[in-house]
Amino acid sequence: MNYEGFFRRQLDGLRQEGRYRIFADLERKAGSFPRATHHRSPGQAEVTVWCSNDYLGMGQHPAVLAAMHEALDRCGAGAGGTRNIAGTNHHHVLLERELADLHGTEAALLFNSGYMSNWASLSTLAGRLPGCVVLSDSLNHASMIEGIRHSRARCEVFAHNDMADLRRKLEALGPGVPKLIAFESVYSMDGDIAPIAAICDLADEFGAMTYLDEVHAVGLYGPRGGGVSEREGLSHRLTVIEGTLAKAFGVVGGYIAGSAAMCDFVRSHASGFIFTTALPPAVAAGAAASIRHLKASGAERGRMHDRVALVRRKLTAAGLPHLPNPSHIVPVMVGDPKQCKRISDVLLDECGIYVQPINYPTVPRGTERLRLTPSPLHTDEDVDHLVRSLSAIWSELSLRKAA
Ligand SMILES: *Cc1c(COP(=O)(O)O)cnc(C)c1O
Repeated sequence: MNYEGFFRRQLDGLRQEGRYRIFADLERKAGSFPRATHHRSPGQAEVTVWCSNDYLGMGQHPAVLAAMHEALDRCGAGAGGTRNIAGTNHHHVLLERELADLHGTEAALLFNSGYMSNWASLSTLAGRLPGCVVLSDSLNHASMIEGIRHSRARCEVFAHNDMADLRRKLEALGPGVPKLIAFESVYSMDGDIAPIAAICDLADEFGAMTYLDEVHAVGLYGPRGGGVSEREGLSHRLTVIEGTLAKAFGVVGGYIAGSAAMCDFVRSHASGFIFTTALPPAVAAGAAASIRHLKASGAERGRMHDRVALVRRKLTAAGLPHLPNPSHIVPVMVGDPKQCKRISDVLLDECGIYVQPINYPTVPRGTERLRLTPSPLHTDEDVDHLVRSLSAIWSELSLRKAA
């Protein structure tokens, strides 16, 4: 077998479909986010990033950087082991307390990424509970799907945010069957928000556990950044709240929060927690500083939501198609993978604007888009330049289409 030939043919297939991934080689500039240097071949250029998940710019916040510098100098580079063998640093313990406090839960458990927290927690909970059936929203993130699959538990996928379908699927299961409803609060591609209270009501009625991924909401919603569940006063009704330290908190790492027994159970059984080196202490210190800051300050959240509203207003005024939703995510709809890539290339090469095209399989075919994430650091001029550039490209491309 010609293995190399196989790899190349597969990659050619991706290219032909317009969904071969090319990474933008960026050097982020602390102190001047959302500016970054784009390294191209040859040369480099200054760009404004419009698609970062560092939603609030906390990745350059002085309090976060100071905490990281201090912990780095005090504790050194790495954790030195798994959590069980020499790797639990005091900074991990403090961070887990900070997270439990953020969500008002008894406990929290730290993972090396949000992906790992979903994968390890769902596979452990669903896999170790005898006969457990998972009810999974059809738009759940890949990390949740993989975790559920790895659990080998039976999985029923319910239509996205569809309470009638969820009820039907719950009713079809016997009352004695252990059940886990897995869903997200803010869905990252369409920016819509789950009816959390209604799902908790159904969970109560049918005796199910609830698992809520708040990755795109923690730091951004709720008076202390505790997510949509905090904003709606529902934190206490969820079995598991899962989040990341890598998006609005600007660092890296994932976690679950919930009861002491639940966290201890996952801690004691999850392979993806046990058999991996703990996060560097400086990372834990930086994340804790970020959470602490956003618990006390609503300024970043307020300014972000203001920028989001401004971008939407200007897009609408320019006649550019964008998906309305109740969150901070602004999807500009293109509907074709090659055009989507083309627009992104022109923005990057000619306008100094970086927005990654989002194509299948991240979103369904025909819904290809540019996913804008306005931050508190984007200025009025940045917004004007973005919308003007998009308008120009739009007319240019539609002229061509008409010809
Ligand atoms: C990004 C993401 C994750 C994974 O979080 P990381 O910390 O980046 O690994 C989990 N769930 C959802 C919905 C996400 O978008």
